[in-house]
Amino acid sequence: MTNLVFLSERTAYLPGTNNLGVIVASNKQAIAVDTGIDKEASRILRRACEAVGLTLAAVVSTHHHADHVGGNDYLVRNIPGLQVYAPRREAPLIEDPYLEPMYLSGGASPLLAMRNKFVMATPSPVHQRFDAGELTVLDVQLLTVPIPGHSLAQVAVVVDDVCFAADGFFGDRVLTKYGVPYAHDVAAQCASFAVVRSLAVTHWIPGHGEAVKRTELEQTIAANLAAITHSRALVLTALQTPKTLPAVVASVQQVLAMPSASLAQYAVFASGIAAYLNWLVADGAAVAELSADGLVWRRV
Ligand SMILES: [Zn+2]
Repeated sequence: MTNLVFLSERTAYLPGTNNLGVIVASNKQAIAVDTGIDKEASRILRRACEAVGLTLAAVVSTHHHADHVGGNDYLVRNIPGLQVYAPRREAPLIEDPYLEPMYLSGGASPLLAMRNKFVMATPSPVHQRFDAGELTVLDVQLLTVPIPGHSLAQVAVVVDDVCFAADGFFGDRVLTKYGVPYAHDVAAQCASFAVVRSLAVTHWIPGHGEAVKRTELEQTIAANLAAITHSRALVLTALQTPKTLPAVVASVQQVLAMPSASLAQYAVFASGIAAYLNWLVADGAAVAELSADGLVWRRV
């Protein structure tokens, strides 16, 4: 059994493919920061809390991605009164997870191969929608910090000297594994690095990767920026001739020698590449235009 790793008297996390945060409230109650990809993940989290005498009574979801909210439903169904908190613009996608494979399918009704736990979580109610800022959960005063970019309205959760950083940055192994770090808006993602870096805490717990101490943060953020710079260069190289999104995706995957293992993985990767293409248009490095081939991006 995996044990909670305590960072202070009232902050801990459960390390794993998804690091899940735990914040201790009074009366042996606890708040989970994200719940993992499925009921098994949140069951393991629940047991790890119970092993130290804590009962989960609330969940703060950082963003709607299935690997962060997939365990909500199990906890809501099995712990009477458990309250789910989510950022206002992320909440609709947590309550209606069909929207994730739908947007990854260009708005179309998704193929069956897209309706799995990797991109479509089990639906969860959101009892409390919040705007970033101070937030009281149970009797704990938290700070939720907007770090959009990876997702529409993702937040980091800060308490004491700890920042639960969601997917605001990734650990080295995750960067290597995915080649192109997933973004919804790359410019916002880069701006959010500065926000993460500015927080007066001593530990950052990313959703994926090792916990980061203050002395290690600069290097970790630099690795994330380097991965983004490299990804931008790959996309720009692909645009030596005008290309459609699928053609750019194919080109980048060939250079990285990273074909997708599943349709869902392909769709997520392609969505991330679309974010790079639109970033290039926004800063004047490329244009998007209709051609005989359909919508193509062209380097300026
Ligand atoms: Zn995510």
